[in-house]
Amino acid sequence: MSFRDCSVLFSSLAGILGIISTFPNLVSAQTEARKCPTPALERFVRHQVVTEETLQTIAQRYDITSATIIRMNPTIRNGKVTVGQNLIIPPYDGIVEKIPSGQTLREIAAKHKIRADALFEVNGCQENPRVVFVPEFKKKLENSLQEESNILDNISNFNQITGYPLPENTTVAFPYGWQINPTNGDVFFHSGIDLSAPLGTSVQAVGGGVVVFAQEQGTYGNLVIINHSKGLQSRYAHLEDIKVSVGEEIVKGDLIGTVGATGIPTIKEPHLHFEIRSSSSLGWVAKDPKEYVGK
Ligand SMILES: [Zn+2]
Repeated sequence: MSFRDCSVLFSSLAGILGIISTFPNLVSAQTEARKCPTPALERFVRHQVVTEETLQTIAQRYDITSATIIRMNPTIRNGKVTVGQNLIIPPYDGIVEKIPSGQTLREIAAKHKIRADALFEVNGCQENPRVVFVPEFKKKLENSLQEESNILDNISNFNQITGYPLPENTTVAFPYGWQINPTNGDVFFHSGIDLSAPLGTSVQAVGGGVVVFAQEQGTYGNLVIINHSKGLQSRYAHLEDIKVSVGEEIVKGDLIGTVGATGIPTIKEPHLHFEIRSSSSLGWVAKDPKEYVGK
């Protein structure tokens, strides 16, 4: 604890002592609150890679595994960092996870096999957080090294985009590129393809990667974005249900949601709006998905 923290603590103690006689309940409430650390999600720091640093030296410096850094930073390719690259560093090993509506912190804790009270404290004792940091308590070093090399293997073996986002090939109900909006006649750029499919059809990841977005997003409705290797990204929009959460690593064919009509679909016919984007200096640029998924 630094000197500055000490003085803050003393002044708050003095404040508490001053009101002890009149508000005993307040004292216990304050004491409770002080047991809780700052939420882990507020303790992330940014790190800019400097010359001669590697993923391993950065991981050592922050006392976390390379695997954690890779999970938090989809811009890392093939386990290599580049000078000047900005990384997000969590306070300790773990993942960021969205709590689906209807689920409780207790259920999330059970899913990750950690104690609910530990998860509660790590996240600043919030009653109903929407997003939590799920810590990964230190396993044996061998385990984490093994896990790390598995993740690195997975990343270098990622098969680009070879899958199809639906269980069966289907027709393109509305193509990619400059189009006329059938509803209002406006010319607009359609950044993906609309694949005909009944509501409720399973939507699958077209390749391995990491989920970087999984929630409602304006006209897209319920949207899932997956970052793949080699600077590619896939997006699945207007979903009815979302079955994955941010930070999750997935493989080709994993169920990520179901076809829906959330947001503002361009056409009325039930479909999946599917996009492929490629990382460039201008950001994530839309590509014609037909070049990647055939048909
Ligand atoms: Zn569309």
